Amino acid sequence: SPLIELADVRKRYNLGRPNEAEVLHGVSLRLAAGEFAALIGPSGSGKSTLLNLIGLLERLTSGSYRIQGQEMAGLDDAGLTRQRRQTLGFVFQFHHLLPAFSALENVTLPVLMREGRIGRSQLERARALLDAVGLGEAMHKRPGELSGGMQQRVAIARALVLSPPLVLADEPTGNLDRHASDEVFALLRRMHAELNTSFLIVTHDPRLAARCDRVIELVDGRIERDGATTPRDAV
Ligand code: ADP
Ligand code: ADP
Repeated sequence: SPLIELADVRKRYNLGRPNEAEVLHGVSLRLAAGEFAALIGPSGSGKSTLLNLIGLLERLTSGSYRIQGQEMAGLDDAGLTRQRRQTLGFVFQFHHLLPAFSALENVTLPVLMREGRIGRSQLERARALLDAVGLGEAMHKRPGELSGGMQQRVAIARALVLSPPLVLADEPTGNLDRHASDEVFALLRRMHAELNTSFLIVTHDPRLAARCDRVIELVDGRIERDGATTPRDAV
């Protein structure tokens, strides 16, 4: 079975009024292991909503969502949390690092949350990831002592520390200047090449979308386009 499979997924936000707003109108989508895909579309088209559904941070209103063949729709909150920690890593536009903790402590935090302790091999993996993202020298610094691009590298290492099969990134370079943005994107591509992890990346930036392997375009809550990037995408 595919890594993830959504079939006819609808999402309505209950606004407490009779005219509830449906923002996803029957989205069907498969992602295989090892893909590197961009999710694009105008502001308000439903990208964050779709990413939050895939990330098990929101529940679908109707339809089916399977991860590695298992249906998510019936799971309770504890089940969703367990599945999220097992399958998913997250990178956000604003990195959400904890300011009082070092880079290394931030990267090991998901381990602590899932296992209740940090084993020696997990600490070694966190160090190795920080080395891999070019922060070996800075692992004991706090986020406030690091540049925006370096903070986002810490967030990428944190997303990968539990070796999730899928990393979801919502505008991971949205807060960075062009140079830092290119560096962070190149890092995502390199981590994808080195690890057996799929990436789904929401971006407004057509330059970055063109450098993904696949582009999924959402318009008004529907998938308007889904396919491999072509030379036409290069800008
Ligand atoms: P994004 O649009 O990047 O996913 P959010 O999920 O935080 O950002 O946006 C929440 C809502 O705020 C969106 O549905 C959109 O309608 C609005 N919004 C976000 N960014 C902008 C923007 N740059 N200009 C106008 N509206 C925006
Ligand atoms: P995008 O990420 O593409 O900008 P969003 O998923 O943020 O789009 O938003 C899609 C639509 O859903 C927008 O009309 C937005 O206003 C609405 N929306 C998003 N989050 C909520 C929410 N928590 N409650 C109600 N409406 C929401």
